[in-house]
Amino acid sequence: MLLVGPPGTGKTLLAKAIAGEAGVPFFSISGSEFVEMFVGVGASRVRDLFKKAKENAPCIIFIDEIDAVGRQRGAGIGGGNDEREQTLNQLLTEMDGFEGNNGIIIIAATNRADVLDSALLRPGRFDRQVMVDPPDIKGRLEVLQVHARNKKLSEEVSLEAIARRTPGFTGADLANLLNEAAILTARRRKEAITMLEVDDSVDRVVAGMEGTPLVDSKTKRLIAYHEIGHAIVGSLIKDHDPVQKVTLIPRGQAQGLTWFTPTEDQSLISRAQIMARISGALGGRAAEQEVFGDAEVTTGASGDLQMVSGMARQMVTRFGMSDLGPLSLESQQGEVFLGRDWMNRSDFSEEIATRVDAQVRSIAEHCYEIACKLVRDNRTAIDRLVDLLIEKETIDGEEFRQILAEYTVVPEKEQYVPQL
Ligand code: ZN
Repeated sequence: MLLVGPPGTGKTLLAKAIAGEAGVPFFSISGSEFVEMFVGVGASRVRDLFKKAKENAPCIIFIDEIDAVGRQRGAGIGGGNDEREQTLNQLLTEMDGFEGNNGIIIIAATNRADVLDSALLRPGRFDRQVMVDPPDIKGRLEVLQVHARNKKLSEEVSLEAIARRTPGFTGADLANLLNEAAILTARRRKEAITMLEVDDSVDRVVAGMEGTPLVDSKTKRLIAYHEIGHAIVGSLIKDHDPVQKVTLIPRGQAQGLTWFTPTEDQSLISRAQIMARISGALGGRAAEQEVFGDAEVTTGASGDLQMVSGMARQMVTRFGMSDLGPLSLESQQGEVFLGRDWMNRSDFSEEIATRVDAQVRSIAEHCYEIACKLVRDNRTAIDRLVDLLIEKETIDGEEFRQILAEYTVVPEKEQYVPQL
């Protein structure tokens, strides 16, 4: 059985739980341990593992990160990795060696089922896949209840509210979140975790450690305009998620941050929503350019631009949302895996590639124009919000909308509220 899901979703825990429920021995190894070995050792490790398992049957073998050893053979650029292939061949042989049910169940885990060698997925081998996705709101609440058991929470802390605030968090993220909150509580010499520590920890898990705010300077002013730019564009486009807060307190790599209320993972996202996100992501650069001019724009928007290109390209090549029509031009999602994906990369012609690039550019340009216009039209509100942001360091979403509403019509946002 193959457990497929992103890191931190509890694949290893699940495998251990199965062994625990079944009351049988559990042999665990990571795929990367096989291939770090000297030549020939990987294959003999596989043999040893299965030998030990056969002696202890019934039992469970768990292979974590199977993609490290089980990648498509002959996929590496410049010839395959002999050591890895030998190890994989040995694994395939051992799996075929089982006659009927001799009491060994093999569970493997990966977050990239798409790069696995097809031989591994054939009937009789890992023919059963179980998706282990990040938990939904109900799952998050239950995970939080488990990790809250040994922690002192003050009465006002609602695990339900935390579950609502954390779409996309894995089980490991949630455990980490409550641990961070406990550490902060101890550091602040409080008796019990309050919502304040929880909120600070959510920010830390999402965006990294908090840094020291910049002193008032031209740079700080520029960053303030950049962030207010994101927030204005995001607020004034109806299909964009609402602003949660804007802050100039650096966190992780970012000098300032605009937080949007996270939405529960929707399975369907509309064209209008993607266009809104692209415009919102361009709001920062638009404000820099409108306020400070062409020559003063900064490298601060590089992350935004990367996101914009990614979203625009997917609209054209995967979602059929451009003038090229309803076509899918890329089969794989995610980052390019050097090897297989790279080899079949050109499943379309030069001419189509040029047209894709033109479409991507036209989407980005269109959204940038929208962002620039919103910045130009709301310059008075922006100037006031920037002054306030520099003075207060953080403006929350409600206050932001109230001030903005004095100058223009702020559209109501419909948000999907998941039921518990
Ligand atoms: Zn930005």
